Amino acid sequence: MNAYDASRMADVLAPMGYAASETMADADLVILNTCHIREKAAEKVYSELGRLRQEKTLRAESSRPMRIAVAGCVAQAEGKEILRRAPFVDLVFGPQTYHRLPLMLRELEQHGKQVIDTEFPADDKFDQLPDAGKVEGASAFLTVQEGCDKFCTFCVVPYTRGAEFSRPVDAVLREARLLVGKGARELTLLGQNVNAYHGAWQGAREWSLGRLIRELAEIEGLERIRYMTSYPAEVDEDLISAHRDVPQLMPFLHLPVQSGSDKILKAMNRRHTSGDFRDIVERLRIAQPQLALSSDFIVGCPGETDADFNQTMALVRDIGFAQAYTFSYSQRPGTPAAEMDEQVPDQVKSDRLQALQAEVNRQQLAFNQSWVGHELQVLFDRQGGRDGQLIGRSPYMQSVHAELSETHIGEVITVMIDQAKPNSLSGIVRQHQEAVA
Ligand code: SAH
Repeated sequence: MNAYDASRMADVLAPMGYAASETMADADLVILNTCHIREKAAEKVYSELGRLRQEKTLRAESSRPMRIAVAGCVAQAEGKEILRRAPFVDLVFGPQTYHRLPLMLRELEQHGKQVIDTEFPADDKFDQLPDAGKVEGASAFLTVQEGCDKFCTFCVVPYTRGAEFSRPVDAVLREARLLVGKGARELTLLGQNVNAYHGAWQGAREWSLGRLIRELAEIEGLERIRYMTSYPAEVDEDLISAHRDVPQLMPFLHLPVQSGSDKILKAMNRRHTSGDFRDIVERLRIAQPQLALSSDFIVGCPGETDADFNQTMALVRDIGFAQAYTFSYSQRPGTPAAEMDEQVPDQVKSDRLQALQAEVNRQQLAFNQSWVGHELQVLFDRQGGRDGQLIGRSPYMQSVHAELSETHIGEVITVMIDQAKPNSLSGIVRQHQEAVA
C-alpha cells in the first residue's frame, strides 16, 4: 500500500510541476514514505534522515534548496517527535492526509514554517485525489479498503491507518477502468483487511469483495485480479465462490495466520483458531484446486512456549505454502502485547525464526521445483537483467525469466519451465521460438 500511496502522492504533485527524479541530487523535495509495523522499519527512517540532512545542508548554499517530508505511518505515530529528533524536516504527514500536499507545500513556502498534518480527516481523501497517472509495466495496485478495526494485540495498524473504510463501488470501478485503459493487465486490490471490504453501491446496498471481483472481471482487457492482505475470519462464501467462478482471479492467496497455537492466537486477539484456518483453506482448495498459499507468521509473541511454536511448525507442514513471510515479534509502543509479561528472549526468537524460515524456504523451493517440465502462464511486465530477457509473474506470484523481446511487455505468454531456484523460475517460450524459426 505504501507503493500505491507513493504513486498517488506523485499524482497529487504533478499539477504543481513536480516529477519523479532518479537521484537525490536532482530532487527539490524528498518524501520518505515510512512504515511503522516493526521497530526496524521505524528506526530506518532516522538513519535515512541523517543522510538527507547532509544533502540538505550542502544544498542550502546552492540556488536549489531541498525540502524533506516524512510521510506514512511513522509520521502518523510520531508526529511532532520527528521534528524534535530531526528539526531539519519540513513536512510531516500521515497516510490519510497526503491529498493535502499542495496546501502543505504552499504553507511552507509562504510562511517558511514546518507543517504537521496527522489528522484523520472526515472527508474521503480518494475523492480529492486526481486521476491516477501512468501505469508502469502491466500490473497496478488499487486501494479498495483501508484501516483496521481488529486490534490484534501486537499491531500498530489501527492506530496509524485508522478505522476500516471501504471505497464506494463506483469509485473503485472507475479507477480500475482508468488503470486498464492506461495499460494495466493485472490489478491487485489493496487493503489492510481487504476482504473486510463492504463498499457502498448506489447509496443503499453494500458489496462484498467477492461481488466486487466478479464485477471487475467484466472489464475488457483486465486479465488478472489479485487482492491483499486478507483476514482469515473475514473469508466468506462470496469470496470462496469467486475463486471457483472467476477465471481472472489468480489461484494464489496471501492469508496471514500468524501462529499455529490457539493459545497464542487468542492472546493476539485473532478471531480464528488454527482449526478455523485449516477449514478455510480446505474450503478454498475445494473451490479452486490450483490454489497456492502464502501467509505471515510472527514468532516469539509474549507467552509463546516451545510447544506453541511447535504447533506453528506443524501447521506450516500440514498446510504447505508456496511462500510465506516470517517475522520476529517486535514490541510496538502503545499496543497491548508490548505491556504483556512473559516477553520472549531475543535469542529464543531468533532460533525460532531460523527454524521456521528454513521450513518455509524448503517448501518454497519444492513448490518452484514442482513446476519444472510444466507450463505456466506468465504476465511479462519488465526487462530482465540481460538483453533480450523479460521478467514476469506466474499466477502464483513466482518471478519467471524468459528470452523475449521488449515488445512482449504486457502480454500473458505460455512458458515451459526448465529451471527452478528458491526465488525465481526460468523457462522457454514455445510460440516465440516457432515464430523466430
Ligand atoms: N497491511 C499489510 C499487512 C500488515 S502487517 C499488507 O498489506 O501486507 C504485515 C505483517 O507484519 C502482519 O501480518 C504480521 O505478521 C507482521 N507484524 C505486524 N505487527 C508485528 C509486530 N509487532 N511484530 C512482528 N511482526 C508484526
